Amino acid sequence: MNVKDGIVDAIGNTPLIKLERASAATGCTILGKAEFMNPGQSVKDRAGRQMILEAEKRGELQPGGLVVESTAGNTGIGLALVANARGYRTVIVIPETQSQEKKDMLRLCGAELVEVPALPYANPNNYQHVGRRLADELRKTEKNGVLFADQWNNLDNRKAHYTSTGPEIWRDTGGKIDGFICSVGTGGTLAGTSTYLLEQNTNIAIGCADPRGAAMYHLFKDGKPTVTEGGSITEGIGLARVTPIIEDIRVDHSYLIPDEEAVPIIFDLLEHEGLCLGGSSGINVAGAIRLAKDLGKGATIVTVLADYGNRYQSKLFNPEFLRSKNLPVPDWLTRKTDIKP
Ligand code: PMP
Repeated sequence: MNVKDGIVDAIGNTPLIKLERASAATGCTILGKAEFMNPGQSVKDRAGRQMILEAEKRGELQPGGLVVESTAGNTGIGLALVANARGYRTVIVIPETQSQEKKDMLRLCGAELVEVPALPYANPNNYQHVGRRLADELRKTEKNGVLFADQWNNLDNRKAHYTSTGPEIWRDTGGKIDGFICSVGTGGTLAGTSTYLLEQNTNIAIGCADPRGAAMYHLFKDGKPTVTEGGSITEGIGLARVTPIIEDIRVDHSYLIPDEEAVPIIFDLLEHEGLCLGGSSGINVAGAIRLAKDLGKGATIVTVLADYGNRYQSKLFNPEFLRSKNLPVPDWLTRKTDIKP
């Protein structure tokens, strides 16, 4: 029998999908790791699982305990699902600007949601600081343990990708991989996966694809985490400071990807390849195309299809929202049917 031992065991082992048009356009083989096929529909299920299981090992959580996290949503969904399966409750602090779909999903998972204004990290009321303070407060009364998952500082987040994403990519490409690239939210995916891959073959080119308004492009290009101008409609990525997770990693190619480049790729992948993806995947695939051009024809490049598109129906797939951001609206999004029942 091929049976998963609960949802925790069903996370990971996602397929690599060849992206036909990106591959054809570059003369390379561009592969997307289908992280949207995880139970919580995102790459962050892996971090959620690892952070909870490691906390259990350290004796920080007992049955009925509490998992607290600050998150743009996907980590919260991963944590909430794993917490339900392991018998914990979840409290999530989220910036109110994040998509309604992610908030709805968190609520239906049973997470208690604390919505806070979106403020810069330097502000003491930024969601990441609010989450930490809340966890400290709840720890005073909670008898069964409180885990503040702390994904930006928690090396178990990075370990999730070192022990699963990286080995899966190496296994499924049979070691035939010339480049790996993705964007950075906490950096767990980029750091954990690249560290594992480089241990197998130091010649693999590692790339970072950064949205506007973040600092990773400059960090990996010229060593200084200077925040680039402008912004992005993508969610879950765009780190503006150096965290313990990324401070010591090797990145060979760094690209700044504007939304105007990433968003049409999302529509293209849905219209022509049936892949329904969130905005960060557009940044990732755009980055993979740039890396392919730099590495030259014949290269095999892996990137991450980070989450499922239905999480952004009200934004990325909403014509009004797109127009308000001066982004192109694909024809099929506004098409009305003439077909009568
Ligand atoms: N894409 C999406 C949609 C995400 O939610 C996240 C995580 N916040 C990422 C990419 C980046 O993952 P990581 O935190 O591992 O850098």
